[in-house]
Amino acid sequence: MSRTAPAPRNSTAHWQALDREHHLHPFTEHKGLAQSGARIIVKADGTYLWDSEGRRLLDAFAGLWCVNVGYGRKELADVAHKQMLELPYYNTFFKTSTPPAVELTQILAEMTPGNLNYVFYGLSVSDANDTIARMIRQFWNLQGKKTKKTIIARENGYHGSTMVAASISGMNYMHQLADLPLPGFVHIVQPYWYGLGGKLSPAEFGLQAARALEDKIVELGADNVAAFFAEPIQGAGGVIIPPDSYWPEIQRICRKHDVLLVADEVICGFGRTGQTFAAQSFGVTPDMITMAKGITNGAQPMGAVAASERIHDTIMGAAPEGAIEFFHGYTYSGHPAACAAALATLDVYKKDGLFERGRELSPYFLDAVFSLKDIPVVADIRGYGMFAAIDVHPDGAPGRRGQAFQKKLFANGLNLKTTGDCAILAPPLIADRSHVDLIADILRKTLVAL
Ligand code: PMP
Repeated sequence: MSRTAPAPRNSTAHWQALDREHHLHPFTEHKGLAQSGARIIVKADGTYLWDSEGRRLLDAFAGLWCVNVGYGRKELADVAHKQMLELPYYNTFFKTSTPPAVELTQILAEMTPGNLNYVFYGLSVSDANDTIARMIRQFWNLQGKKTKKTIIARENGYHGSTMVAASISGMNYMHQLADLPLPGFVHIVQPYWYGLGGKLSPAEFGLQAARALEDKIVELGADNVAAFFAEPIQGAGGVIIPPDSYWPEIQRICRKHDVLLVADEVICGFGRTGQTFAAQSFGVTPDMITMAKGITNGAQPMGAVAASERIHDTIMGAAPEGAIEFFHGYTYSGHPAACAAALATLDVYKKDGLFERGRELSPYFLDAVFSLKDIPVVADIRGYGMFAAIDVHPDGAPGRRGQAFQKKLFANGLNLKTTGDCAILAPPLIADRSHVDLIADILRKTLVAL
């Protein structure tokens, strides 16, 4: 049998061949991957990535909504390096802690809204959302309300990929082959005015979408409903920005029916909407928040849960009816190198004023993206803070034009994510007007030729 000569080591073909043979990728269409081979990203600096063919790409997606302070930050590498020499690993189980975990927790408790003063660490938001689901069960059981079990979330919301997080997520294609959602997870309409608002004004539709929560609580009985989970702005679902009337009404309904409000801030948090957390942008105070990504700039894996005093006091035993132990934790909860990287990242946000910077750049960024509205293939544009989405009119099968769009953008030097026929932009918060101009230029050129 003839064999073709193997590709030279460290070449694109070599990496693609090995990757094709052995690598199961997350959220990837593997048949297409087998044909095209993986894109191999080899280095990054500031707002740019380089692939193995030497092509430079402006990253308009901050990695995967993570890299808010840009790539190649020496401060982050230095503290992680120092920490790995001093104490590369120790756990936070069994009444133990480490200095980076202690310091980070104190800072996060100050940054989070309301009295969300307690932080639990994990590795991702999927496991953080699982953690919350367990905390919530334990909370209501200890409160003596043992029937309060159902979690309500929204259609087209994304909360992660573990069995519980995928059950909270409202994406049918994730549920189908995995027999999800698990029992006890239900979904209501998303606040997507462009797609679902009909003749209603955004304000009217926002109230109507929020009241779908109240209808569901009444249908199930408030005694059976534990919590409502939502992203302040749905990211993976296509940057769905709720009308202003939505969030205050959601909070009113949750309080009225004693249903815990959980905000999944993994992509909205850490400056993307102009505030530390989007809940602050929308004027609500959740009972719990999940965070990740921008917490370490993606440089180390970390997810975290912030919980209110009420939840903490019940679960951790400070309240008289409380438990003696929370039987839950991960080997890497509060990992010292990850905590050190998070401390360095939070320091950069502060030192460089990046949340303010994002707030200041936002109108320029949004104007640039909305200026593409005249291009015939563009169906809708949405934006808020340093987030935006462009829907293109479908061409045959749903998602086909979106995929072609992404591929051509890549060829033209711009990296972003498409979901179906929607392109999502979330540039690093260190971006400036020249980056925005380049993003808009490449988008226009590509959209016109699509
Ligand atoms: N929630 C939201 C809102 C997300 O956008 C994501 C990931 N993009 C997740 C949860 C899952 O996070 P992870 O991949 O860290 O588990």
